[in-house]
This record gives sequence, C-alpha cells and structure tokens, in this order.
Amino acid sequence: MFKIFVEPNDLFLNEVKYIWTIFAFNKGINFIFIDSKDTSDISIGGDSDYTINVSNEFYKLLWEEKYFHTFHFKDKCMIEVAGKPDYLSTAFYMISCIQEINHSRHDEFNRFPYAESYQCKFNNVTQNLVQDCFDKLYESIEILRTIPVKKTKTAIFLSHDIDIIYGSILQDSYHLLKKGKVVGFTEMILKNMMRYPYWLNMIEIMDIESKYGFKSTFFWLVNKGRVSANLSNSDYDINNSKVRATMREIEKRGFFNGLHKSAANTGFDEELKTLNLLNINSNRYHYVKFNPSIDFKNIEDAGIKLDCTLGFAEGPGFRNSYGMPYRPYNLKERRAFNFVECPLNIMDTTFHHYKKSGADAAYKFSVKDKLSEDLVANKPAFMDVK
Ligand SMILES: [Zn+2]
Repeated sequence: MFKIFVEPNDLFLNEVKYIWTIFAFNKGINFIFIDSKDTSDISIGGDSDYTINVSNEFYKLLWEEKYFHTFHFKDKCMIEVAGKPDYLSTAFYMISCIQEINHSRHDEFNRFPYAESYQCKFNNVTQNLVQDCFDKLYESIEILRTIPVKKTKTAIFLSHDIDIIYGSILQDSYHLLKKGKVVGFTEMILKNMMRYPYWLNMIEIMDIESKYGFKSTFFWLVNKGRVSANLSNSDYDINNSKVRATMREIEKRGFFNGLHKSAANTGFDEELKTLNLLNINSNRYHYVKFNPSIDFKNIEDAGIKLDCTLGFAEGPGFRNSYGMPYRPYNLKERRAFNFVECPLNIMDTTFHHYKKSGADAAYKFSVKDKLSEDLVANKPAFMDVK
C-alpha cells in the first residue's frame, strides 16, 4: 500500500487526487492518501520539492476558464512544468474533454467538431495518449517499478444503435442488386411485404455474436419520427409487439437492452419511463449528439450507470485520448461523476456516411490499428454492462 501525499493547494488538490486515482487503477497500484508529506512514499505538488511536480500555471489557466487546447498545447500535446512533461496534468486535461467546454463552434447537429480538436490539429486521434502519459509516469517513479505491472486483458464493448428497422428496402435493394444477389433481394421484398421489419434482425445478430462468444447491447429509441429538417428519431413504435418481443428475447439470451437517448427535447426520466424495462443501466445518445460538459450531469441525474457516447462521429479514434472506461470529472463541483463512460471507438456510420467507404475500409482500418493486433493476439473478453 503506497502512501500518497498531495499538496493541500486548493488550485489543484481535488483534480490531482482524481487523476492519480485513475492512474493507480490503470496500473493496479494500491494506495491511500495521507496528510503528512514526511511519511509519504510519493508526494505530488506544485514545485520541485515533490516526487511529482504539477503545473500551477495549467490550473491557473483552467480556473480562468481558458479551456481550449490552444492555451495548453502550443506546439505539442503535452503540458510542461519546469521544462519537463507534466503527465498528470496532461492526462487530466485530455481525459476530461476540457477542450470542449464552452466552445462556440459546433457542427450542424450542435456537436463539438473533430476539425476543432487537438486530435485533428496534431493528427493523433487514434493514439491512446492518456495511456502513454500513465506508462511514462509509471516508468519515471522509481518506487513504483518495485511492483509488477498490472496486465489488463483487452475488452470490447459491442453495441447496436437501433435507429431504423423498416428502412431496408431502398438501401438493401441497391446493395443486393449491385452484388447480383437476386435471392437475397427477393427474400427481403417478401419479408417487407409481409410487414416483418427486415432490420429487426437482432436474433440473427445475436446468433452470429454468440458463435464468437460475444454478448452485446442494443440501444433503443423511444421517440419516433422527424425532429427537424436534418434530425430524425426512429422509424418504429417502441410499443410495437414485434419490437417488444425482440427486447424480451435479447434479455432471455443474456444480451442487454439500453436507452438510445433521442434527439427530441424529452428528458431521461420521460424516455426511461416510456422504454419501461427493468435493468436499463446504459445509454448512448442518438447521432452521438451530446455535449459532455452539460450532458454528463444529465446522465448522472438520471441514474444511468454506463454511458457509451464519447466518440467522434466523423472518424474512428479517441475523443478524450483514452481507450478505457472511466468515471468522468465534474469540473464545476470538483468531483468524479458516479457513472462510467465507455469510449466509442469505431462506429459503422463513420465509414458509410462520413467517409463514404464500405465494410472493406472499416476492416482495413481496424486491422492496421495497433489495438486490433492486440485484440487478435489476446482474444478479447466482452464487457458486461451490469
Ligand atoms: Zn442513432
């Protein structure tokens, strides 16, 4: 058990304790915070008298509401203190999505655009930079190297947003006919004529995933129809008997149902009431349309235990430069939220809508990625949402 002392400086005390806790969890370090520097194993503070030195300047800027990355990352993505990397402050800045707070430029869906991010400016969206900070911090502290490094098996959270279930005629017929699959085309037309929604195909999806030992989560929209000129919710009625039967089958097989928070102005309470299912612990915002600095609070207030929205719609990668689930930070109240955010790394819409490319490009992206090599080598476990 390591004894950790953090300088009781109101400028950064809570924030340093928060990011240290995530670091320690990442590395499997057992620790307690203590009040005496003299008896500590590791001390953290704002000058060179401490084992780990954090930047006073960074926190001063933060409390002056200088949130955007141009204040902190001038020519590289690293906050420095006395000419050396400040890994804790850098990790805190990135993991907490601070670049997005109060940012004025948004895209057509009112989202923080990838083009505005430091990940775009420095071309590093596919890098797990917070993990790099943690690895380097760990290596830089001699006393930590006496304990074995925690090895965590790679885990994937596999999920499906159920936006449309009747929309297959137009989209599928084009693909099937293009590929010359007349039998598939006929079957699809027949199913749609019999009014069976062709994309209410969760049984087939579960069959495939079960073959590979995966369990996934299906996020359902409770609001139907158009919201505005460019925003639509689902094309199905959440109380349709076939939809409800599918939900029951999902639960029966040990898969999971979650809420796909709609783009309408309804609150979580109302949507969860309409969904009317027990065991709803998880959520993802439709269109990835959310603002972490506002909506994290709404997620917590709703009692959601796991949110899975944190990703960029325009490209695969890390929106907060971290590839692990974590408890986000409430900067206003200076404490961790009490739910877990699981980063969204790869989304199908990114490829077929934003990048105008198909499954082949998505596959190529994932196999050239270091993460995927790791996945292939380690045969990942699936993440349970409970
Ligand atoms: Zn959606």
